[in-house]
Order: sequence, then C-alpha cells, then structure tokens
Amino acid sequence: MTTRTFTLAELAQVDLAVRIIALTEYADDLAAIGYPLQSRVIHHKAQLVYRAARAERLDPEPRLAPCGICHGVRSCDWTAHQEAL
Ligand SMILES: [Zn+2]
Repeated sequence: MTTRTFTLAELAQVDLAVRIIALTEYADDLAAIGYPLQSRVIHHKAQLVYRAARAERLDPEPRLAPCGICHGVRSCDWTAHQEAL
C-alpha cells in the first residue's frame, strides 16, 4: 500500500472544512438561543471560509520558482537585477 502526502492546498482545504463546520454549528447555536443577527454574521464568515477552501483547490498559488537573475523566490532583489543589466 502506498501512502500519499497531501499537497498544501489539500491540507488547507481540510483545515478550512473543519473551520466551516465549527462556524456553522456556532451560528446554529446562536440562532437557537435568540441571536439571529449574530447568527447571520457567523454564517457569512462560514461562507467566506468555504470560498477560500474552494479557491485553494481551484486556483492554487503559483509554484515557487527562484528568479534566474537574483535567485529570489517570492520577491526579486532589484539591486541585483540592476547590476545584471
Ligand atoms: Zn529576480
């Protein structure tokens, strides 16, 4: 049997799914004890988290690639770039 490691996007999606469930339960509890407006706010937060989880899978971060000139990964060192030009 082979084991498969999750990608970062899949891990984030699992974390966010747990958060969605917790937020939805909290919102339902608030509605049950008579706080309908707060319940709507928490439901809205749960929807935002759902969309974030969806985006993690559908539109993942671009693959990290070091710059060929300055070897920066997330941002370039522009002084190194200007020296190269
Ligand atoms: Zn660069």
